[in-house]
This record gives sequence, C-alpha cells and structure tokens, in this order.
Amino acid sequence: MVVIVQQRLRGSAGVGVVAVLLPPPGCRHVMHWAPAAAEPCARPTWAGAFLCYSQRMKEIVQDGHPVLREVAAPVPEGLFGTPELMQMLRDMEVALDAEPDGVALAAPQIALPYRIFIVRYDRMHAHPPEDAEHVPDVGVFINPEFVKASRRRDEVDEGCLSVRGKYGKTLRHERATVRARTADGRVFERGGGGLLAQAFQHEIDHLDGILFIDHAVNVVEIPRHA
Ligand SMILES: [Zn+2]
Repeated sequence: MVVIVQQRLRGSAGVGVVAVLLPPPGCRHVMHWAPAAAEPCARPTWAGAFLCYSQRMKEIVQDGHPVLREVAAPVPEGLFGTPELMQMLRDMEVALDAEPDGVALAAPQIALPYRIFIVRYDRMHAHPPEDAEHVPDVGVFINPEFVKASRRRDEVDEGCLSVRGKYGKTLRHERATVRARTADGRVFERGGGGLLAQAFQHEIDHLDGILFIDHAVNVVEIPRHA
C-alpha cells in the first residue's frame, strides 16, 4: 500500500501540492516525492496542481539487473483502478519523459516486475513537436498479448534504455496488434506498423525477460557523449 500525504507549499511559482509517498513495507524501491527537495516545478500535472518531484525519480535499470531477466507477473485483478497502479504508471511516465530518445518503456525497466508497458505516440513521428506546451501522448498497455502479427518481418535498427550505448539490427514483424487493458481494467486492441509494431515487440520481450541484444546482429557500441 502506498500512503499519500499531501501538504501545501508556497513557492515562487505559487501554491503547489507535494505528495510524499512512503514505500510499502519490504519494497526495495524508494519513492521520493520529498518536500525537502521540492521546488514548485514547471510541469503542471494532477488537475493543474504542481506536483513536485526531485531528481530522485525512478532510475532506469541497466542490463545485469536481475529484474530485466525475470518473466514479469500479470497485474492482478485487485490492482486495476487503484492509486498504487496509477503511481506505477506515473513513475514510468516520468522516467520515460526524462529520456528524449525513448519511445517506450516496460515496467521492469524501473524495477517493477509487472506486465505493463507504455509508449509515447508523440515521439513516434519523424518530426515530433518541439513547443514548450507540447503534451506527452502516452499509451498504457497492461497485461498485453499479441493477437496478430504480420508474416513479413523487417530488419530494423534497435536500441534500449536499459542497454545504454548499444545498437544493433533486429528482425521485427512489420505490423502487430496487441490486446491489453487500461489502468481501470478495460480491454482494448491496438494495431500498428513500423516503429509502433517494433515497440510492441521490444516491450513485450522485456516482460518475458528478453533484451534486444539477445537476438540482435551487428551490435555496435556508441559512447553516449561521443
Ligand atoms: Zn528496452
């Protein structure tokens, strides 16, 4: 259970709301939304309040972390529609938002062993909008499974936020359709081609403990700040 304590702070940007999240007993993750580190941040969320978070947001775990090799568990029925699940999704969105090159993220990448991934549709375009008012367009897929995949597969370039600096070529179905559930448990299907289909396959691999380097060819290492 995540306990949310709200308190109001007055800062230079006006009145903000700071949520203090206490991790559940036995949780090895630390969810800091600490008022001590908080300044009213420029990112309005939560019904127009200023939700402040520090640099201590969930880090993206790297190859070698055991959670990346586990088969993630389905989100249990009792978790749908709860603040706990909403918090996990928010943590994923914040972690992905901080990675401008990332188009999708699976829950195990922030050490959450559940079958969830998110995609940033707004980053799938060749020329994403750059204006400051730009609102992230996030797709949430819970307990996803493939319902269709094209016979045709393409060789595509691939990288991963959990395998920093490495890129390679993978074979991915050109089109794929996924059935999944929303945060409140509704079942939906979404199909796509190209980068979206590739993201579906890459992220569902994550949920099965598979990394792209397991099957990629021509893997090269490019220093991050080369
Ligand atoms: Zn990845």
